[in-house]
Amino acid sequence: MKILVINCGSSSLKYQLIDSETEHYLAKGLCERIGIDGVLNHSVPGKDKFVDESPLPTHKDAVSAVLKILTDPEKGVISSLEEIDAVGHRVVHGGEYFSKAVLVSDDVIEKIGLCSDLAPLHNPANLIGINACRELMPNTPMSVVFDTAFHQTMPRKAYLYGIPYSYYEEYGIRRYGFHGTSHNYVSHRVAKLMGRPIEDLKIIVCHLGNGSSISAVDGGKCVDTSMGMTPLEGMIMGTRSGDLDPAIVQYIAKKENMSIDQVLDVLNKKSGLLGISGTSSDFRDILSASEQGDERAKAAFEAFAYRIVKYIGSYVAAMNGVDAIAFTAGIGENNSLIRETVLSSLAYLGVKVDPEKNALRGDEVMISTEDSVVKAFAVPTNEELAIAQETVALLQNA
Ligand code: ADP
Repeated sequence: MKILVINCGSSSLKYQLIDSETEHYLAKGLCERIGIDGVLNHSVPGKDKFVDESPLPTHKDAVSAVLKILTDPEKGVISSLEEIDAVGHRVVHGGEYFSKAVLVSDDVIEKIGLCSDLAPLHNPANLIGINACRELMPNTPMSVVFDTAFHQTMPRKAYLYGIPYSYYEEYGIRRYGFHGTSHNYVSHRVAKLMGRPIEDLKIIVCHLGNGSSISAVDGGKCVDTSMGMTPLEGMIMGTRSGDLDPAIVQYIAKKENMSIDQVLDVLNKKSGLLGISGTSSDFRDILSASEQGDERAKAAFEAFAYRIVKYIGSYVAAMNGVDAIAFTAGIGENNSLIRETVLSSLAYLGVKVDPEKNALRGDEVMISTEDSVVKAFAVPTNEELAIAQETVALLQNA
């Protein structure tokens, strides 16, 4: 089947047309600056990249441009829209409504809207993308795959915060977790690589990208994850602070004469690696600056690694053991130093890193030695493929 995967942001739209049999993409691209001016970057394996700077006033125009380029006789990969079997949409927040992907219906759209309060920057943009596709391809089945869904199996003790229970009941304040599609995909890949049923395994997945989260997956089900009601909690990230004492918010507000919104903006956009280093949110910059002796960049790297080590330790405790630890996303897949630094702090678990395998990049690889008690892996994540696969499964079971 050919599945068009759409990830719609407030001014951008990422797409991939995936052949679910070969598991490869036929074409992919990104529309940016929607509503500002507009630029579409389109690429097809084996062909030159194509850039179109035609205006994209609305998301509907962006979806139209994507459908047009996919069916273009020269730059396209399909001869008509009929060849698209389904569209899979990434949606950030499914609240407590959705514990798995679902086919789009009016009821589903309404519930995604109800979750907008919890993800005001993302859900409305996701909905715009869904509605634009529904208008332009009214007869094509569509699915929605939620970032939060995989984490809905967390037990109450893991998702409740220690605050008045009425806030959970009235406002839905609880841990939801994000990057669920990636945690689900990677944990299944690890089970496959180990040649064991996922039901028998305790896996910790470290998704380390610009946004980072760690999850504990016991028997294929998420039992805890580091992001919370919003993606601000947990790891030290590119620009997000991750965990901190909540009283700090008021303290900064007073000292800097800021509103709560302004402090939250600092914690989301000016903290993390960027905040500590004072120079960059990009991990590659942090690495090169610390190699050159920049103390602040070193401090950022150390704090980033230490937070990961602490979470892994707590998730080993939460699951009463661990069989495998996996690293994924931009930093986790590509950087051997962070994997080595983290895993060398886990010698107490019986993890032994194989330095040669850990130096490999780009492929799924077991980076621990054969006799390592706990296995470690680097696994490139592929959220688009996972969305396509979930969409195919939904269609087949419909
Ligand atoms: P997101 O999808 O959350 O925007 P990514 O998963 O693409 O983020 O990860 C981006 C991060 O990965 C950046 O901090 C970037 O520096 C880092 N990264 C990408 N490639 C490498 C590499 N080869 N070595 C180290 N870090 C890398």
